Amino acid sequence: MDQSFETKIVHHSLKKTNHIRSKTTPIFQTSAFTFSSLEELEGFYQGDESYLYSRTGNPNTDELGQMVANLEGAPSGVATSSGLSAILAGLLSVVSSGDHIVAAEDIYGGTHHLLKEELKNLGIETSFVNFADQTAIRDAILENTKLLYSETVTNPFLRVEQIDTLVKLGKDYNLYTMVDNTFATPYLLNPYQEGIDIVAHSATKYLGGHSDVTAGVVVGSEELMTKARQKVVNLGSNLSSFEAWLTCRGIKTLALRMERQSANAKQLADALYQNSNIKKVYYPTDLSSKGNGAIVTIELADTCDIHRFFSSLGWVKIVPTLAGVETTVSYPLGTSHRALSLEEQQNIGINQQVVRISIGIEDAEDIIKQFDEAIKASV
Ligand SMILES: *Cc1c(COP(=O)(O)O)cnc(C)c1O
Repeated sequence: MDQSFETKIVHHSLKKTNHIRSKTTPIFQTSAFTFSSLEELEGFYQGDESYLYSRTGNPNTDELGQMVANLEGAPSGVATSSGLSAILAGLLSVVSSGDHIVAAEDIYGGTHHLLKEELKNLGIETSFVNFADQTAIRDAILENTKLLYSETVTNPFLRVEQIDTLVKLGKDYNLYTMVDNTFATPYLLNPYQEGIDIVAHSATKYLGGHSDVTAGVVVGSEELMTKARQKVVNLGSNLSSFEAWLTCRGIKTLALRMERQSANAKQLADALYQNSNIKKVYYPTDLSSKGNGAIVTIELADTCDIHRFFSSLGWVKIVPTLAGVETTVSYPLGTSHRALSLEEQQNIGINQQVVRISIGIEDAEDIIKQFDEAIKASV
């Protein structure tokens, strides 16, 4: 049928593309999917694995969810608009109004706010306790407690969570367990395989790895992830196809990046331990057989001028995030932990001399030299 310009201009891109065997997954940058008959439409509702509407499912976001689930050794995964929305979807797959959560007191600030403000307003209470103290966890468990929540490695002091203890407590008290595995990544730790029910990631960090996406993934059993997926659909916290595609692209180099970044971090930590102008170096020693992660936190000696330190870092940029391929620094007192009271800051060890370093893939000697210079300049 001969078409007019007005018809052609809106139909010009309508080509059959499935015969084009692209090496990588194409980006399905579409808000919806079409059907050629009512039978096909009915097929979607009968579960034939076709797609309907991108908020309810998209091949790129499915690819990302499944990719991370595979890396964690979990049956199913859901990709979401951010790390925080992945955590929310995971939480809401197991708790509802009237339930109680016991969470580690040193979790990510955004998660702390989510629990303390938003979930509290929905009738879900959280007790924050010191998870290094097993008795404190037991004492906080109530009749209506449903979930134990923590992180595999905490920010900024890199406390390594005792996963086996959490799993055992979960079994003893018949509670779900959930951890945020952002800092360790599935390259270093696989908490689902150790018995944790739900594992969440801010894919904004190491999974994406290039500081160019905001995304999240939550993984777990088919049953729990079906619920989590429903929350994402209902809350509208789905990820865009392009960001899912970028994250999948980033994940392909996760092992290479983490191997290099962990090795660089170890070398930097070793050099900083020797530096008499550094009061404390925080770097785990027992995280995993493949390495101890790529974050090093330091406390400069009281004699060092913190402003001069930050302004003498040369090519190392100051950013309120972590996990890119470039070495960066952040200032917990001025960003992630600024909302805490002075007493809360002192309790966990945050003060004006504390600096969190996210180590990149550069040459280790160059990184060490740059920090040496900044420390010298600050004295
Ligand atoms: C950044 C971060 C989050 C939040 O992720 P977003 O992608 O910013 O929503 C959660 N947990 C940890 C440990 C993080 O570092």
